[in-house]
Amino acid sequence: MTSELTVTRFAPSPTGYLHLGHVRSALEGWRAARSAGGRFLLRLEDIDRPRCRDEYAAAILDDLAWLGLSWDGSVRKQSEHFDDYRDALDRLDAMGVLYPCFCTRREIQAEIARAAGAPHVPYERPYPGTCRGLDMRQRAEKLRSGIDYALRLDLARALALTGPLDWVEEEREEPRRKPADPTSLGDVVLARKDVPTSYHLAVTVDDAIQGVTLVTRGADLATATHVHRVLQALLDLPTPRYRHHPLVTDADGRRLSKRDRALTIRSMRESGISPTEIIARAEFAVDASGSLGS
Ligand SMILES: [Zn+2]
Repeated sequence: MTSELTVTRFAPSPTGYLHLGHVRSALEGWRAARSAGGRFLLRLEDIDRPRCRDEYAAAILDDLAWLGLSWDGSVRKQSEHFDDYRDALDRLDAMGVLYPCFCTRREIQAEIARAAGAPHVPYERPYPGTCRGLDMRQRAEKLRSGIDYALRLDLARALALTGPLDWVEEEREEPRRKPADPTSLGDVVLARKDVPTSYHLAVTVDDAIQGVTLVTRGADLATATHVHRVLQALLDLPTPRYRHHPLVTDADGRRLSKRDRALTIRSMRESGISPTEIIARAEFAVDASGSLGS
């Protein structure tokens, strides 16, 4: 279909040990790259400094090597590239698609509840846009007061600049174009007062800098792709293809999390389970969930 070199990546956060779900994700990228004679890259998403630990970063590299999932080139650590994200942020700011939000988490929830007319609403609702309407004077005043703020993407303005967008999704054998509709995410946070990036911005910038052509990641991140596509268009970055894979679940059908200590690769290694068996388990767990399709 295309003669370009396939470049994939695995991008865990060093906030805990790898578990079966990570192995599934790493395998997906590793196989796609290896079967196409391409490159498999490793990136550590460690912008959340207080939650990340060097010990976990070292364990991730060690576990991957032990599993035989070798990566190409050096490991990109997001915490070493804040300048890249700041540049991107400045460009977005110059386009007028950012605004500071001074709301606390509690204020956002209260505002959502008011708008919905219900006292209990899930936090997943998008930000209600409270600070989008502040005028220059109000903004300047709040900024001067030194309170914390986040920089949010003004999605309506962004979409007015980009027009309709889509991407190539490879979730089944037949790739298809999927329209980008980021409205359910609303005005996402792209940076904070003291951190010039967020997950969304760093991932989008990194995938472009690392030359990633195929993003493989869990279906839980499929929603994020809609907004990443918008950022790519605004920043004039290439759009990789995407493959969102089913999540590994436990026997009860719940997705694995870092809290499931018994399922870390670390503890499985210690109990004598072989790399081959762990890889088989990562795949079987997905099959068992029934969501892989056939
Ligand atoms: Zn706000």
